[in-house]
Amino acid sequence: MTKFEELGLTPSLLNAITDLGFEAPSEVQEKAIPILLESETDLVALAQTGTGKTAAFGFPLIQKIDSASRTTQGLILSPTRELCLQITNELVAYSKYEKGLNVVAIYGGASITDQARQVKRGAQIVVATPGRMKDMISRGLVDISKIDYCVLDEADEMLNMGFFEDIKDILSNTPKEKSTWLFSATMPREVSVIAKKFMNSPQEITVGSKNSGANTVQHEYYVVGGGDRYAALKRLADTNPDIFSVIFCRTKRDTQKVAEKLIEDGYNAGALHGDLSQNQRDLVMNSFRKKQIQMLVATDVAARGIDVDDITHVINYQLPDEIETYTHRSGRTGRAGKSGISMVIITRSELRKIKAIENKIQTEFISKKIPTGMEICEIQL
Ligand code: ADP
Ligand code: MG
Repeated sequence: MTKFEELGLTPSLLNAITDLGFEAPSEVQEKAIPILLESETDLVALAQTGTGKTAAFGFPLIQKIDSASRTTQGLILSPTRELCLQITNELVAYSKYEKGLNVVAIYGGASITDQARQVKRGAQIVVATPGRMKDMISRGLVDISKIDYCVLDEADEMLNMGFFEDIKDILSNTPKEKSTWLFSATMPREVSVIAKKFMNSPQEITVGSKNSGANTVQHEYYVVGGGDRYAALKRLADTNPDIFSVIFCRTKRDTQKVAEKLIEDGYNAGALHGDLSQNQRDLVMNSFRKKQIQMLVATDVAARGIDVDDITHVINYQLPDEIETYTHRSGRTGRAGKSGISMVIITRSELRKIKAIENKIQTEFISKKIPTGMEICEIQL
């Protein structure tokens, strides 16, 4: 097995890695880090959720940045506020032994003045959502005209969320001479368009899904009557008293409703969706991270890329329209080599969708029955 020491990282990064408790590089790290350290190439890296992409670009980026200079040298674009904060926190942990290196997060829903002030103090690395970044550029609050590195993280998600125009706009404010690193779980056509349009003969690496830990997820479906989804959900929760899960609904309204009902019925539940204030969203996410909330009911957009370890179950309260979205949902569990279960509650008429997903993910679902009240009593005895 390759060691971090063999990848060409500096002692200060290796020390931070030791502190983090990372024992060996993940596959995408092993492949990406030497390429990014040794050359100034553009790179397209495809690897499933939970495979350690943040460090795959984070370590080389930190190593290449000149922390003696205050200029903004690296820009990371990421789809959501939550991911922005997550990446920023990770980079801060990675760079704990780098003197004078500042990483600043820029995202909507928080004071733009505060963020501008942080940038002005000298941020060598800026981690931003496309919307807020565009806003800051147009107001002259951030200067990315001298960056050397641009990372497009979760590129498929950013494009799914309709950020194509914003990304194009932002990139037009960056110098031609720079390296662009694109990281994505999947490679839909929109991503190849971006790669072709904005990248210069990128090297490509793909981490096989077979041995990436993504197949530690077991997929199950439960057929219920149309009006029985909520009762089924409760039974599934009762069968798994130690459940720590994300429950996906299709709309903000359903998300809120299901969470409220669960709370009323005595479960440790919370809602995460776009109609909540940023403050409420932060509170919910913090409680979830601390496991004070066992069942996080969320929309796809709100839950994007959230990296919380140890999620035991992903529950599809309703199936998403897009199969790709199912992949992202189930990727919330079974991370970093742990196992997880992705459950789907469906009506008989939706069985066809299961077939389509099976084809896409090349994995068979297990058909299961909702446990009866008696069976649940036996579990709890
Ligand atoms: P991705 O961006 O591919 O979805 P992340 O970068 O968010 O994945 O990493 C997933 C989790 O794995 C994080 O909690 C991260 O701290 C952890 N991790 C990353 N690299 C390693 C490693 N080499 N050893 C152990 N844990 C790691
Ligand atoms: Mg990521």
